[in-house]
Amino acid sequence: MKRKFARKLFNTKKIYDLNKTDDLFVKAMRENAIYHYENCSEYKQILDNANFNPYMVSTMEDIVNLPFLPTLYYKHHELFSKPLWRMPVKATSSGTSSGLKSKVAMSIGDLWRGFKMIKKVFSYHKLWSIRPVTYLIFGYQPTRHSQKAIMKTAHGFTYIAPAKKRVYAIRWTKNGYQVDLELMKQELIKASKKKTPIRTIGFPAYTYFLLKEMDAEGIYLKMPKGSKITVGGGWKQFYAEKVDKNEFYHLVRKVLGIEEKDCVEFFGAVEHPILYTDCKYHHFHVPVYARVIIRDPETFRPVKNGKMGLINLMTPMIEGTPLLSVMTDDLGVLHDGCECGESSPWLEIIGRVGIKDITTCAQGADELLKG
Ligand SMILES: [Zn+2]
Repeated sequence: MKRKFARKLFNTKKIYDLNKTDDLFVKAMRENAIYHYENCSEYKQILDNANFNPYMVSTMEDIVNLPFLPTLYYKHHELFSKPLWRMPVKATSSGTSSGLKSKVAMSIGDLWRGFKMIKKVFSYHKLWSIRPVTYLIFGYQPTRHSQKAIMKTAHGFTYIAPAKKRVYAIRWTKNGYQVDLELMKQELIKASKKKTPIRTIGFPAYTYFLLKEMDAEGIYLKMPKGSKITVGGGWKQFYAEKVDKNEFYHLVRKVLGIEEKDCVEFFGAVEHPILYTDCKYHHFHVPVYARVIIRDPETFRPVKNGKMGLINLMTPMIEGTPLLSVMTDDLGVLHDGCECGESSPWLEIIGRVGIKDITTCAQGADELLKG
């Protein structure tokens, strides 16, 4: 089946013009809902049980009423709408203490849409560079031992600008993954004496931890012009932040000599593989590829912008797994207006609702640090 409307949506030039794309978004969601309804029996059952007819979707209100699936559901069920052998990517989320992981599959078409999205988002935020850079990755070295999506993402990011060198903070050894921040420190010192700009990628917690240590040791560097700090690599880190963002940017300036405008933050999730990038005020505006609904935790009715509720993420991007409408267990607020001038609302992630036993990816990283 040709994904006509999804293709149009992912070809949209103005990536934050939500108003102009509402109609297209609804059509692409309808197309995607019908696709999964016809190709995934479990999804069909969910819609049938809810008495929801995907062929009737025609307005944004219908999209609001489309049954959502909680992220937890993908940890217990494998939902695929295409034979697995036809899908090049099977990603798993970073998992929980109970070992549960979401399994999501992506088709070639999904990857193609993802590629177009990344290309447009990075162009818009001026992140492409033809100048080779040294990548310092505060994350896992890719190995055949793991298929964490976060690792694939971090590795993928190192193609934004040509890589002169890639250094990983969490390396595979005979004892499993080990964190080596000392190596990162030495590489930063080396890089500061050269002309090649650096890009850091990955867990904010590690980056912050290392910068704190360097500050305590009185190591102050000036990174080559064109250097950037990018943090991200997963949805989970962003609300579990123990770090005040301003303090983080202050440390980056003090220790590495990199300005706040050259600090970029991303988020995305296995269950919602959309690339959110912060504006210069560090707000995550919703791009045309997605819509965010904040819902009342008791009634699940949408709340007004500015009010807190559960974050429901929507996108018609994926045909491998029905990810059209995913309900997270995170609280957030959708805000209107930003000094950057972008008309699209921005999402503030407040935190997790009451589920204590879930060890997030960031907490897992914390434990590695302690060990
Ligand atoms: Zn903004």
